Amino acid sequence: MSQTRTEISSLGEFGLIQRINKGYKTTRPDSITGIGDDAAVIDLGDEFGLLTTDMLLEGVHFDLSFFPLKHLGYKAIAINVSDIAAMNGRPQQVTVGIALSNRFSVEAVDEFYEGVKLACKDFNVDLVGGDTTSSRSGLIVSVSVFGKVAKDKITYRHGAKAGDLLCVTGDLGGAYLGLQLLEREKQVYLANPNMQPELEGKDYVIQRQLRPEARMDVVYEIEEAGVLPTAMIDLSDGLASDLLHICSQSGVGAVVFEDKLPIDDQSFLAATELKLSPITAALNGGEDYELLFTVPQTAYDLIKNNPKISFVGYITDTPNEVLLHTNGDNRIPITAQGWQQ
Ligand code: ADP
Ligand code: MG
Repeated sequence: MSQTRTEISSLGEFGLIQRINKGYKTTRPDSITGIGDDAAVIDLGDEFGLLTTDMLLEGVHFDLSFFPLKHLGYKAIAINVSDIAAMNGRPQQVTVGIALSNRFSVEAVDEFYEGVKLACKDFNVDLVGGDTTSSRSGLIVSVSVFGKVAKDKITYRHGAKAGDLLCVTGDLGGAYLGLQLLEREKQVYLANPNMQPELEGKDYVIQRQLRPEARMDVVYEIEEAGVLPTAMIDLSDGLASDLLHICSQSGVGAVVFEDKLPIDDQSFLAATELKLSPITAALNGGEDYELLFTVPQTAYDLIKNNPKISFVGYITDTPNEVLLHTNGDNRIPITAQGWQQ
């Protein structure tokens, strides 16, 4: 037995996943894509099946002092459905695992499942199973979603081509800024419980953090417009990090225009108040769960009038060179942040 101990922080999240991936090869002919995209791809004969799982831990991903359990239930489903959307798929069934400590009452569990139910209705999926167990370290939620996609409609992270247009849905940075505001108000409250939270006029960014949506609406709309993206990913870690995944897996580079980044007015205001850069929040703030996708230039006319879609840049043929074209006409490299231990 080797006595060597390597810190996980020396690899980071993506390095660790790569290491797991390298040590494991799929053997079944129906396992089409394993580790490395937003969802696993399984050959079902006529169609592809899609399978994805994500875990949320109290104290890491959510703080119950400001995160209502109903919203948590909704978010747990939405962020998993978002990975199915990122494959251009349709979600169908979910399983939900929960680990609870004795701090939680039956009513608290009811509240969580109200959110789960609402999300299941919104995304037209059925809750078909899960697991319930005890926890010594607060609430743990683990959700898996199964979905399907036509074989000729599947969209991987690896299909982007030089010259393709880079598109993003909705707006960016709001979820991260909402979290910063909620954490600030929590500190204020802890210091003085008589203080009232100052969250007026900040409902949109707070909602972006507490109640994200999976963009199934846009998946349907681009299909109706007759457009098939060449590559797609959902924005869980931030545009910088997730665009780098598309570029490295497609063997391409990209240019993003600072002035094209969609940022809501409330996000601008929140960033100013928090003394943060709205551009940094848009590039590196995670958890927006919008879709980032590439389309051939011929698709432009077909989706240019969709107000939910912004054209933020284009794909280049320089592998892994991902640049931000600033308002001052400089081009600076965009670097990933991702999860670090
Ligand atoms: P996403 O943010 O889209 O959920 P992740 O960055 O979490 O994607 O994961 C990227 C890929 O790595 C996915 O294919 C996921 O299934 C896989 N993956 C993540 N963690 C593990 C693990 N512990 N074992 C096996 N595969 C993993
Ligand atoms: Mg994803």
